[in-house]
Amino acid sequence: MYFVEVILPLSLAKTFTYSISETEFHYIKIGMRLAVPFGKSKIYTALAIQTHQNQPTLYDAKEIHQILDEIPVVNEIQIAHWQWIASYYMCAIGDVYRGAMPSALLLESETIISKKTNEFIDESKLSDDEFLIYQALLQQSSLKVQDIMSILNKKNIFPVVQKLIDKNILVLQEEILETYKPKLIRYIRLHSKYESNQGLSELLETLKSANKQKEIILRYFQLIASNKTRGEAERSGAKPIAVKKLIEAAESTMAIVKALIDKEIFEEYYIQEDRINFQGKMKEESLKLSEAQGNAFEEIKNNFDSKEVCLLHGVTSSGKTEIYIKLIEDYIAIGKQVLYLLPEIALTTQLVERLREYFGNKVAVFHSKFNNNERVEVWKQVMENSEKSQIVIGARSALFLPFSNLGLIIVDEEHEQTFKQQDPSPRYHARDAAIVLANSHKAKVLLGSATPSIETYFNAQSGKYGLVEISERFGNVMMPDIELVDLKDKYFRKKMSGHFSDTLIEEITTALSLGEQVILFQNRRGFSPVVECMTCGHVPQCQQCDVSLTYHKHKNQLRCHYCGYSMANPTSCHACSSPHLTTKGFGTEQIQQELVALFPDTKIGRMDQDTTRGKFGFEKIIDSFKNREIDVLVGTQMLAKGLDFDNVSLVGIMNADNMLYHPDFRAFERSFQMMTQVSGRSGRSEKRGKVIIQTYNPNHNTIQQVTNNDYVGMYKEQLYERQIYKYPPYFRLVKLTLKHRDFEKLKEGAMWLYQVMQQNLNLPVLGPEEPSISRIRNEYIRTIMVKIPQNHSLQGTKKTIRKMLDSFDSVSQFRVIKVAVNVDFY
Ligand code: ADP
Ligand code: ZN
Ligand code: ZN
Repeated sequence: MYFVEVILPLSLAKTFTYSISETEFHYIKIGMRLAVPFGKSKIYTALAIQTHQNQPTLYDAKEIHQILDEIPVVNEIQIAHWQWIASYYMCAIGDVYRGAMPSALLLESETIISKKTNEFIDESKLSDDEFLIYQALLQQSSLKVQDIMSILNKKNIFPVVQKLIDKNILVLQEEILETYKPKLIRYIRLHSKYESNQGLSELLETLKSANKQKEIILRYFQLIASNKTRGEAERSGAKPIAVKKLIEAAESTMAIVKALIDKEIFEEYYIQEDRINFQGKMKEESLKLSEAQGNAFEEIKNNFDSKEVCLLHGVTSSGKTEIYIKLIEDYIAIGKQVLYLLPEIALTTQLVERLREYFGNKVAVFHSKFNNNERVEVWKQVMENSEKSQIVIGARSALFLPFSNLGLIIVDEEHEQTFKQQDPSPRYHARDAAIVLANSHKAKVLLGSATPSIETYFNAQSGKYGLVEISERFGNVMMPDIELVDLKDKYFRKKMSGHFSDTLIEEITTALSLGEQVILFQNRRGFSPVVECMTCGHVPQCQQCDVSLTYHKHKNQLRCHYCGYSMANPTSCHACSSPHLTTKGFGTEQIQQELVALFPDTKIGRMDQDTTRGKFGFEKIIDSFKNREIDVLVGTQMLAKGLDFDNVSLVGIMNADNMLYHPDFRAFERSFQMMTQVSGRSGRSEKRGKVIIQTYNPNHNTIQQVTNNDYVGMYKEQLYERQIYKYPPYFRLVKLTLKHRDFEKLKEGAMWLYQVMQQNLNLPVLGPEEPSISRIRNEYIRTIMVKIPQNHSLQGTKKTIRKMLDSFDSVSQFRVIKVAVNVDFY
């Protein structure tokens, strides 16, 4: 008897045993996918992790349906890493598997698929089964994989569906359809008639009388030739010549180009802008590091002789990216793979372009906004150790790719909290999981930040990580000059227009008059957080969540930022019917509107979650700011993500206080990071930048530390607090979040669990607490926090917690309460 042990893509901690034939036993390798039945009638894509001959004792092993792969698509390092994640973060291995794989590789009977629209399909090229599926989807917009099974009257259909997805004929329903078309650039080339250079001299003959046309053709040949001398042309013929560039070079006009097109001498064509950069090959003149960069580079390499992890702490605009590039170059040269992790939101074309300029088509991008096909493509390239994916730039989930030969992981902006996944499980921290992954590859990890997290700096101070610091900006640019504006005083002396102090208005005026750009930071989107009744004080609340609704002026709506609920802005109070309503607080939208009134001739842009939806939403705004189509950019913390603009001379922080007073032990650390990062966008070229921080608390320690660029001061103060109040890095936090619709049941269950933990753990257990937002989507919430000191066994504690969670589950009335475990809660 032969068996295979598999992981199912379900929230299940166990692995499952299926029976296989002897032939299958010899064929199946660890990391291959199998279609297996589960439950009454469902079929899932399972992952083989072991073959053996031990019959399960608790159940009869079912037979698998089908082997889906010819070679493994997941390697053993990955499986071990996923198991580590499941164990460390106390989650189901099935959750990790499900989160790790692109969903197109995880077909199941419930998967809904539809036909891709606007795609021309050559029906004669489809197999019989493919054709039947295709036909069915002409009748019906979408089908479950299950339906297809009955259409084809067989169970083994995953491969044929997969093939149709690979062929771009089918798509998984969950994928959003792209509406934005990347920019197309118009190019020009000689008409194909002249491809072999025949008839060229006759051509020039015929143009004798048309001087201007002849001139532009000659200029065209010159451009082609000058491209060639730079050695860029041998690849795919000549480097494309943009129409715009040709007209400029020939000092000609579009009309003349048009005439030549009409005569069939030239022809036009279009290429997507981002495709062009793909063609670039390694820059020939290599990058020159400054002295400070060069020293840092050497120090990092020295550190790597004895340490696995090194922190590069370099002030904003110190040129960390260039150091990464140099380092990547070293690892590429010895044939290693490199993973470059970035916070999700910062994955702009900017950085990708910078790396592609340098490494050409060895750079691949892995991003949750990419569709399934694109993700599967990168997955396969990495799996094949292909040159095309030798360098992967990605958000945290890129960590799950099938690397086999990883040499270096860079975690840029390592302090970013978005590296920690909150929901759904696995709630892993990509930086920490990266360090573990690197370990199994014997790879090195470089953490980079201008404002490292307290935990990381602590590890660097204690010698666990190497530490390399750069305290100057590249090109001797000075750190920005930070000026504090006391809001209390300004309001008292009536020097405010809306939310703008006279100081800020003056500085904006100056910057704009010099043709420089301005960034204004407000850590809140929407027009203003709430609408309030002036008669009775009532504030409209979300019906499903314990939060006030946010006012969005543009759509004249109230919206819930937690569940997405929205309603039209009321004209009268729901509580007392009074028509006197007012808005309280302020967000990016209101700043934008005040700005329009203050500076009517200025082009203003806004960057927040509302304006950056869609695959390219973020890029579009960044591009137009870079191209100076926008003078003033108003935005939320998205602005803080390592963007590099060369013409920004002023940054204004509208209100520093709402960040400081978050009920969170990291509030001061985060405020420091946010303000320092946003300030860092100012003055990145020769001229010294200016920053205005408006605040009610100019003497607050954190604000003083930002003003004096005093990272170490902030670190020491926060570290002291963390020790006293038992927080990381001295204590590890495990947070349990309990949710249920029945308030009483939840309260009782949370208290039960708390008491059991309190009695059994012999550690500080806090709670059960009602969080500040205690109901979301009609579910009530309670939290329990366990603090585990450094010298205490983490493994042992987690085991005990697991046991108590199991007994909680065995109490029948509590079984319905959902418990989410968050290890190293961020
Ligand atoms: P950081 O990531 O540390 O904030 P960047 O890597 O974005 O800084 O560098 C800041 C600016 O300085 C960028 O415009 C970058 O192109 C430029 N720069 C940095 N190092 C070099 C170098 N060695 N040669 C040329 N330009 C550089
Ligand atoms: Zn009222
Ligand atoms: Zn809500």
